[in-house]
Amino acid sequence: MTETPLKLFNSLTRQIEPLEPVHPGEARVYTCGPTVYNYPHIGNMRAYVFADVLGRALSWKGYKLTHVINITDVGHLTDDADAGEDKMEKMAAEKAQSIWGIAEHYKQAYWADVRALNIRQPAQWTVATDYVEQMIEFAKGIADKHCYELESGLYFDVSTVADYGRLARAVTEDGEGRIESVEGKRNAADFAIWRRTPAGETRQMEWDSPWGKGAPGWHLECSVMSGEVLGFPFDIHTGGIDHREIHHPNEIAQNQAHCCTNGLDRAENSGARIWMHNNFLVERSGKMSKSAGEFLRLQLLIDKGYHPLAYRLMCLQAHYRSELEFSWEGLGAALTRLKRMVMAVEALKARHAELAAASTDLDAPLEQKAEWTLKQIQGGAWGKLQPMLDKFDAAIADDLNTAVALTALDDVLAAKKVDVGTKADLAAAMASVLGLDLLNLTRADLRLRPVTATITEAEIDAALARRTEARAARDFAASDAIRDELAAQGVDVMDGDPLGWEWKL
Ligand code: AMP
Ligand code: ZN
Repeated sequence: MTETPLKLFNSLTRQIEPLEPVHPGEARVYTCGPTVYNYPHIGNMRAYVFADVLGRALSWKGYKLTHVINITDVGHLTDDADAGEDKMEKMAAEKAQSIWGIAEHYKQAYWADVRALNIRQPAQWTVATDYVEQMIEFAKGIADKHCYELESGLYFDVSTVADYGRLARAVTEDGEGRIESVEGKRNAADFAIWRRTPAGETRQMEWDSPWGKGAPGWHLECSVMSGEVLGFPFDIHTGGIDHREIHHPNEIAQNQAHCCTNGLDRAENSGARIWMHNNFLVERSGKMSKSAGEFLRLQLLIDKGYHPLAYRLMCLQAHYRSELEFSWEGLGAALTRLKRMVMAVEALKARHAELAAASTDLDAPLEQKAEWTLKQIQGGAWGKLQPMLDKFDAAIADDLNTAVALTALDDVLAAKKVDVGTKADLAAAMASVLGLDLLNLTRADLRLRPVTATITEAEIDAALARRTEARAARDFAASDAIRDELAAQGVDVMDGDPLGWEWKL
C-alpha cells in the first residue's frame, strides 16, 4: 500500500506542513484543557474531540504518543484584558462554596463527557494548582529581562520578544484589537504573569511569591505545564481558534523569553513546532453560552435521546478547521448515519458468528480490537478493500480530513462479496482511528430514552406485540388504535423504516 506522510495545518505559518517530530518516532502533544468553573458546553467538547482525533491519527501513523491535557482550576479571568475576575473565584462566591469543591465537581462532569464521547485518556491530566511552584520559578527566570511590576501584579512586556502576536496576525504595533487595558501597562497587549491579591482582600486560592501573595496568570500556567511535562520544544500544541488570538500568542512570548530564543522563523522557537486550532461550533439561538441558564451540554443531548457518539460523528463530518453549525436536524442526521453503521456491523457480526459456528478457524464473536496502527494492517490481504484503505489513510494524513475518511468507512461497510472477517477487521481499524467504537455498539445502545418519556420499553414492546396480532387478524381498527395510543405517549411507530428501526420515542 502507499502510505501517505502525515501533514498538518500549522497556525503559526498558516500552512499545511509535514510532521517532523522533535524526537524521532514520538509525538508530544499539549492540549489546552477546560477551566473547571462550570459544565463544558458541546462547543468546548468539539475541541477535545479534535485533539482526540489528532492523537488517534498519530497513533495510527505509528508515533509513540504522549498527550497532555491540562485542567485550569485557577487564574482564568472572565475578561481577556486582565481586568476581570477569576472565573473560579466568581463561581465559588456565587455558589458560596469552596473553589476546590467547585473544581472537583466540574472536573468530574468534564471527564464524564470525555468518556461519553470516547475520547482517549491522555498520558497525563495536569492540574494548574499542582504546578504553582514551577510557575513561580519560571516567572523568576524571565522577570528581569521581560517583566515589570504594577500595583496589580507582575506583567509581561510584549515588546521584549521578537514577532509578538505572529500567531494571531491581528495585533498591530499599538496592540489594536486588544480591548481594555490595565492602567500603567507599557503596551496594550502586555499581560499579567502574576496577579497580586489587592491589599485588604484575601482570595480562596493564593500563594506567596516574590511579587506578593497572589495567583498565577492563565497563560503562564500552560507555558509551565507544557514545558515541564513535554520539554521544550515539543511537537504540537492545540486549542480552540479563540486561543489563536491571545492565549497562545502570550504562551509563545513567554516560551521565547524562557528558552532565550528570538524570532519565530524557526517554528520550535515558540515552544512547540506546530500550533493547531479547531474552529467553533456555532449555534444561532445563543444557548451555548454558559451564562445563558440552560445551555447546550452533552447531557442535554443525551436527555433528548441522542447518543453522545452521534455528536462525535457530527463533529467528524466537518473538517476541524471549518465552522460547524449546530442544529437538532443535523444531530438527528448524524444519529441516523451512526445507526446505519451499527446495523451494518451487526449484520457482519451475525454473519461472522454463523461462519464461526461452522468452522474451526474463525474466532467468534467479533469485537473491537483495542487499537490498530497502520503498520499492523499493512501487508494484509485486503483485495478489493485496498483502495478504501488507501483512501482512508490519505484522508487522515491530509490534515485530518475525517469527512472523507468516514466515506471510506462507509465504502468498506457497503462492500459486497468480500470476506466477512476481512471486512470487519478493516471497518474496526478505521472506526478505532475515528473513535466510533462501532464493533461494541448495539442498536439497543443507540436507542436512548428521552428523560421526558413516561412509557417503558417493555410497555412499548407489549403494545407492538398486540398490534402485530391485530394486524395478523386483519383487525386494522384495533391496530390503528394501538398506534394512536402509542403516539399520544410520544412513541413513533416506524412501519417500513428503511433502517428497520421499529419505533422511536
Ligand atoms: P474554556 O473552558 O473556556 O477554556 O474552553 C475550552 C476549550 O473549548 C478551548 O480550547 C476553547 O478554545 C474551546 N471552545 C470554546 N468555545 C468553543 C466552541 N463554540 N466551539 C469549539 N471550541 C470551543
Ligand atoms: Zn492553555
